[in-house]
Amino acid sequence: MAEIFDPKPVEIKGFEIDERIMKLADKAEENCSAAFAEIDKTARINGERVLRAFINNKVSAACMTGTTGYGYDDMGRDTLDKVYAEVFGAEDALVRHTFVSGTHALTCALFGVLRTGDKVVSLTGSPYDTLEEVIGIRGKGNGSLADFGVSYDQVDLLPDGKPNLGEIFKKVKDAKVAYIQRSRGYSLRPTLTVNDIAEIVKAVKGANPDVVVMVDNCYGEFVESKEPIQAGADLIIGSLIKNPGAGIAETGGYIAGSKSLVEKCAYRLTCVGMGKEVGCTLNQNKLMYQGLFFAPEVVANAVKTATFTGEIMSLLGFEVYPKKGEKRGDIITAVLMKNSENLIAFCQGIQKGSPIDSFVAPEAWDMPGYDSKVIMAAGAFNMGASIELSADAPLREPFAAYVQGGLTYPTGRMGVLVALQEMFDRHCLKLF
Ligand SMILES: *Cc1c(COP(=O)(O)O)cnc(C)c1O
Repeated sequence: MAEIFDPKPVEIKGFEIDERIMKLADKAEENCSAAFAEIDKTARINGERVLRAFINNKVSAACMTGTTGYGYDDMGRDTLDKVYAEVFGAEDALVRHTFVSGTHALTCALFGVLRTGDKVVSLTGSPYDTLEEVIGIRGKGNGSLADFGVSYDQVDLLPDGKPNLGEIFKKVKDAKVAYIQRSRGYSLRPTLTVNDIAEIVKAVKGANPDVVVMVDNCYGEFVESKEPIQAGADLIIGSLIKNPGAGIAETGGYIAGSKSLVEKCAYRLTCVGMGKEVGCTLNQNKLMYQGLFFAPEVVANAVKTATFTGEIMSLLGFEVYPKKGEKRGDIITAVLMKNSENLIAFCQGIQKGSPIDSFVAPEAWDMPGYDSKVIMAAGAFNMGASIELSADAPLREPFAAYVQGGLTYPTGRMGVLVALQEMFDRHCLKLF
């Protein structure tokens, strides 16, 4: 008789992580339990809000299919805009896979709203690196806002990283757009919470009720149970390969806010007069819906991974941001790596612990839009998606690694442990 059951156990090879790192991981996780319970609570509130918006807007099977060509009467696209608007507490939204990145969506919003002679003021110090050329802080004659006669000013953050409300009050009096970046970007300043944004909006509107408050919402979506529109912002902008796409949307961005402002942005994205009514969705609708549906839970996993990373790195003696107990406004943990060897070992280790392209080693390179060399580890299903476990860093003082993402907490956690093992193997880490 043929043997139909082979009792030989199949050996599954686990991760070879030093026992001391594994012990530390257990301790770090234990220390995170209260924070994790909070994160689950937020995920539940946000998950329910997303489900409510799907139901209220009668998302149907027909919405999952897309259009080609001009994309007239694309029900999936138009309904998705409504769902996003409801989830973010906005009047309207523009959610498109044709936004090539977060920077593109932000650029579209800036050019959509600003006109020659207008002034835009950044209220949170210098904006994200890639926007410097868009605004015209770097480069000339290339079609930046400055080239079109839009002036720029900024209010630096106070030494403790808080917004300078007094200075904001003065500088927005003659501004058209007041620009807020919620997340820290490549800096160590604290991320703004939605309550911080509410305070800024109050100061801004008190000085000039007509100013358009625009928020770069990248990395912030679903981290709290409120979004900046509910704090009084007029427009929020973000990337679909970050939080709201949940690693499922393949590309794209969104803009949400008042109807008239969203229309101006749509006129800039497509054509004046056509706006939101054109733009085929090809096969992207279902992925964008699914991404939004999963986003509250995936963001919770990313925030858990970030919280765990902060905890274990501080147990190892590294300085981290946000500090323990500080309220989180985004999915990033910044770790001061002290030198470039540590930084590169960590980032290459994160790549090693990623599901895709684990066998390659990322190198620092001159990425378009950035001033210094940047190293980016992202072994992701969607290329460069930083809602997936990723670590990136400009190679400059103070050699901070910005770690974010993690579609699931168990894989995010292990990715970080693989990175620590890599650091240990390269003598970048002391264990006791
Ligand atoms: C990611 C990000 C952006 C946009 O970056 P892209 O890579 O162009 O999507 C803008 N601002 C902040 C704070 C970001 O984190």
